[in-house]
Parts: sequence; C-alpha cells; structure tokens
Amino acid sequence: MPVIESEEHKGLRAAVSALGNRYGRAYFTRTVEEGVPASELWADAGKLGYLGVNLPEEYGGGGGGVAELSIVLEELGAAGCPLLLLVVSPAICGTVIARFGTEAQKREWLPGLSDGTRTMAFGITEPDAGSNSHRITTTARRDPDTGDWLLTGRKVFVSGVDIADATLIVGRTETVSAKEGRTGHLKPSLFIVPRDTEGFHRRKMDMELSAAEKQFELTLDDVRLPADALVGDEDAGLLQLFAGLNPERIMTAAFAIGMGRYALTKAVEYARDRTVWKAPIGAHQAIAHPLAQAHIELELARLMMQKAAHLYDAGDDVGAGEAANMAKYAAAEACVKAVDQAVHTLGGNGLTREFGLASLVTAARVSRIAPVSREMILNYVSHQTLGLPKSY
Ligand SMILES: Cc1cc2nc3c(=O)[nH]c(=O)nc-3n(C[C@H](O)[C@H](O)[C@H](O)COP(=O)(O)OP(=O)(O)OC[C@H]3O[C@@H](n4cnc5c(N)ncnc54)[C@H](O)[C@@H]3O)c2cc1C
Repeated sequence: MPVIESEEHKGLRAAVSALGNRYGRAYFTRTVEEGVPASELWADAGKLGYLGVNLPEEYGGGGGGVAELSIVLEELGAAGCPLLLLVVSPAICGTVIARFGTEAQKREWLPGLSDGTRTMAFGITEPDAGSNSHRITTTARRDPDTGDWLLTGRKVFVSGVDIADATLIVGRTETVSAKEGRTGHLKPSLFIVPRDTEGFHRRKMDMELSAAEKQFELTLDDVRLPADALVGDEDAGLLQLFAGLNPERIMTAAFAIGMGRYALTKAVEYARDRTVWKAPIGAHQAIAHPLAQAHIELELARLMMQKAAHLYDAGDDVGAGEAANMAKYAAAEACVKAVDQAVHTLGGNGLTREFGLASLVTAARVSRIAPVSREMILNYVSHQTLGLPKSY
C-alpha cells in the first residue's frame, strides 16, 4: 500500500474539497434547519462523478473503489458538509448490487446510484436485535403460487428512507429442505424494497441530532416483492452482507475523520486569534497540545482507513474486515475527542449557534455508536484478533 498519496487521489481530494467549500457549512446548516436534504450539493457531486466513483464504469460509475469514495466523504465532511447517505447508497447498496446483483439489477440501479439521481437506504437494525444482528427476525418467505417474496418484520434507525427510492432490507429466508420441508433455520438475505411498496410503513424517529438525513422506524407488513427483489444468492447471505458492511465501516471512518478535521480547523482558527491575556489562547499549551493530539489521532485513523480501503479494493474481504473495524473505531474516537476539544477551545462560543460546533457533539457520537458500536469492535478484536474467550 503506497503511503504517499497518488497524484490522482490528491487531485480528487482537492476537487471535492473545492466543491464542499463552495457550498460550505452555512449551506449545510440551512438545509438541516429547514429539514430538507442537501439536494443541490448531492446533485452537483453526482454530476461531477463523485458519488459513484467506486462503482463500475460500464454502469456509469468511476471505476474506482472505496478508497476514492472515502476521499469524497472525508473532504465533504472537512468542508462542513458530511453527506451521510454516501455511506449507504453508493457504498453499501451500490457495492452489494455491483458485486452480487443480477445483470438486470445492475442496469436498473447502478447508473442512478452513480450519478446520484437515485438513492438507496439500508436497513438492518431491529428493535429487539440491536448490536446482535444474528438475532434479526424480519423474515422473507416465498409465495409458493407466484414465486413472490413476502417480507415481514420491523427495523429502527434506518436513515434516509423518505428520500431514498428504495431500501435494501436485510431479512432472513426460511430454509426449506426437500426432505424435511421447512426447517426453521434462517439465513440473512438482502431485498430491494421500493419506497412506496404496499405494506412498507415508515415513522420518523424523534432524534436529537442536527442532520439533513432523518431516521425511521419501519414496519414491513407482508410486503409483497417480485422474485427478482432478492439481491445475490440466497445461500451466500453472510458473505454478501459483509461485502456491504465493510465499506460501511470504512465510510463511517471517513465521515468521522472529515467531521473531526472540520471541528479542528475551526478551533485552530479561533485559538490563533482569540486573545484574553498577552498572547492568543493557542499559545497556551493547555489549548495547543490537545489540538495537536487531535490532529495526530485523526491522521493515524486515516492511515488505518486507507489500509482497510486498500485491502477491500484489492479483494481481501477477510483482511479488510479487521482493518475496517479498527479504522471505524480509531476514527470515531478521534472525531469525538477532536469535536469535544474544539468546543472547549471556543469557551462559551463553543456552545453558540453562531459558531455551530455544539451540534457536532451529537453528530460525532453517532460514529461511535453506528453502524457498529465501539464495544462491539473491541469484542471483535478481543475474539477474532486476540483469540480471547467470549462472554456472550
Ligand atoms: C444516527 C443514526 C443513524 C443510523 N442509521 C442506520 C441505518 O441507516 N440503517 C441501520 O440499519 N441502522 C442504522 N442505525 C442503527 C445503528 O447501527 C445501531 O444504533 C447500532 O448498531 C447499535 O445498536 P443499538 O442502538 O440497538 O444498541 P444496543 O445493541 O442496544 O447497544 C447498547 C449499548 O450496549 C453495548 N453493547 C451491546 N452488546 C454488547 C456486548 N456484547 N458487549 C459490550 N457492550 C455491548 C453497545 O456497545 C451500546 O453501547 C443508525 C443509528 C443512528 C444513531
């Protein structure tokens, strides 16, 4: 893995940064206050080829990988415009369809996901499963007469369902054995559920979060889907699921690093200028050192994110799994710390709407909780990497 960023990546970084800064934090805050998605920025990013930079060229994408897509999200975040749907629409859904979808599914979805004219949300979390996704109960069964799928279950916290054309729902198919009939054994499977499908109900959750994307509780009430709503192979569920979840973790790291960088930049600008004694507050090591530490930790997290992206793009799903988890952990911790220190650096102004940093406190915490919590990553590393026994 080259440690020096290629000219191509530097160019992409600079171009996306210019786009993000053209819109800027004020634009993003306005969309949040108005409760509307950042559609203009999304459309422009799509036209410029940034949203589908990871998707195959033959379906309208840029032919790159998650390494390039993570640069896009990081730079938009660093400009104060983190687009959460980049994590789900091109990164999870686009990747899963590109890798496991049928030719018809690719032709139907990838061009739109690439240019941003269509979006797809992703729903796995359930109220009674939470971090234990092995426990999900949303179940798909076949209508023996028509071959249709009937999907029943509940999801929570699913982002962007109101604006996405469809949601990729993780359900379980009931295994039917030729000898014994229905076995009751359940396997994870992925289904494309268009937004207005009958029986697919959504209720907006009341979140204390300043974000353009809203979260939804979903009820799937015998949702009837055609046979081709299933993405990939019914028998390769877990492998396909992780092919989407690893990019999700890498992209959450990019989201966190971008946000951390944005907060740190604001804090440094302030600390250089604000003077209440002889020198600006940034001359006091009590202010300077934690900011320097935040910078180092964000840089370290980026290195691990780049490693994870490199492994994933090289086709090493297993190696990428561990690195993606560690990158998400490191980035979230660095982001939470950078935001906290940024707010503190501004003193009272850290909590004013004018300076706009306080709302990042909750936003930063999201990266510690979702899509997999800090503790579940520590569990993963304890068990998978260190070989320690499991308590659950
Ligand atoms: C803003 C936001 C957007 C989201 N968007 C989406 C989305 O688009 N699609 C989607 O499917 N989901 C989404 N989620 C859901 C998110 O992935 C879950 O919140 C997350 O996986 C944690 O699950 P939970 O909230 O049920 O927490 P729980 O599983 O109830 O965990 C609660 C606490 O217990 C800890 N814990 C649980 N088990 C263990 C254990 N074995 N050992 C140690 N500690 C443990 C956790 O670390 C956590 O701190 C979103 C969440 C948020 C907040």
